[in-house]
Amino acid sequence: MQTEIKIMNVRFNNVSQTETIDFIFNNLQTGKKGYICTPNPEMLLETQKNEAFLKVLNGSLLNIPDGIGILWAAYNIEKQNSKLKALLNLPLIALYPDKFKTVLKERVTGTDLLQKICEKANQTPYKVFLLGAGTGIAEITKEKLIQHSPALNIVGTYEGSPDEKDKEEIINSINNSQTDLLFVAFGAPKQEIWIAENLPLLKTVKIAIGVGGAFDFVSGKTQRAPDWMRQTGLEWFYRLIQEPSRWKRIYNATIRFPIEIIKSL
Ligand code: UDP
Repeated sequence: MQTEIKIMNVRFNNVSQTETIDFIFNNLQTGKKGYICTPNPEMLLETQKNEAFLKVLNGSLLNIPDGIGILWAAYNIEKQNSKLKALLNLPLIALYPDKFKTVLKERVTGTDLLQKICEKANQTPYKVFLLGAGTGIAEITKEKLIQHSPALNIVGTYEGSPDEKDKEEIINSINNSQTDLLFVAFGAPKQEIWIAENLPLLKTVKIAIGVGGAFDFVSGKTQRAPDWMRQTGLEWFYRLIQEPSRWKRIYNATIRFPIEIIKSL
């Protein structure tokens, strides 16, 4: 099986969730510094008009797919290479999503990573810092994570924003905490760009991950779609009903992205 594949010029690594977690803890042990991204279809569309973002994604230690649409794209680029076949197999995303797990193994979301890493960091000396999300959300996220993993060492939370004016205070706060792991919830592409720019200034951080709306999910501010919807690639539909204002983003992920991929075949 191939270890890497390019979709819209973004490198993806063919790693499962478990392999990603093992990779992260191995890096924590060796002290290797870097960031991990979970690109989704919308983020790939963004790279078409934002070259700095494309560079940031390709500069990560790992890019893992957040979205069945990415798995569908990888399968069609590698295995089919046919506009017609890609169009015809598009509905299988909802009916038989496992078909697309042959080129890239699985979808890994920022929320899953946050939860699984914190579970594994419980009972270890590794320190965790939560940066971003709305007022009070990172603190509630911390409480929820500690309820689940009581020995987890969350050494700081900070609401802040990716704006230049907040930068110094955020960096000082992270450096004072001496954290090893940093989760950033500023939304894409701001969080990935912020991480790539500032990671060299974060003295003790070994691994940083942009996690989008993960704090909103873990804190309970936003409900996650039921398991069967997540498995069948229908999470977007659940989010559309919950937050109709996201319609443009959902249109980009479910209509514009497949069109771009089909055109490229
Ligand atoms: N956010 C933030 N500061 C900002 C912009 C966004 O803390 O300046 C947070 C926002 O509150 C949310 C997260 O970034 O918690 C992004 O959520 P979104 O739903 O856009 O992420 P997705 O999961 O769709 O990538």
